[in-house]
Amino acid sequence: MPNPIKCAWPPKTYTLFGVRYIAGGDHIIEVPLDTKTEDIHKYMIWEGKETSASVFGKTKTLEQEWSTEILSSNKKDKYRVILRCDQWVCPCMGFSFKRKCSHIEKAKVIRKQE
Ligand SMILES: [Zn+2]
Repeated sequence: MPNPIKCAWPPKTYTLFGVRYIAGGDHIIEVPLDTKTEDIHKYMIWEGKETSASVFGKTKTLEQEWSTEILSSNKKDKYRVILRCDQWVCPCMGFSFKRKCSHIEKAKVIRKQE
């Protein structure tokens, strides 16, 4: 078992096309299909408040967090889009690769309406 990856966001598991992933911040890794939330720490460790604040050069605390669930375009998966320290984050593959995705755009619209 390799050492867990340190990530800037609290890691989450999700399944896409029958493959299970753990995503946290800049990192996304493939894991066994039966990986549960309790197993995340074996693969990825969230470095916590100080580190994620320094990563983004922000002094705001993580309590300032807003999130919403966005239904994905396949109408099956839901993604919890989070706004934290003025940074949008989405657990989907698109965001992992491109740093932007349609879920965040939808979440921004919802946020404006609130
Ligand atoms: Zn997304």
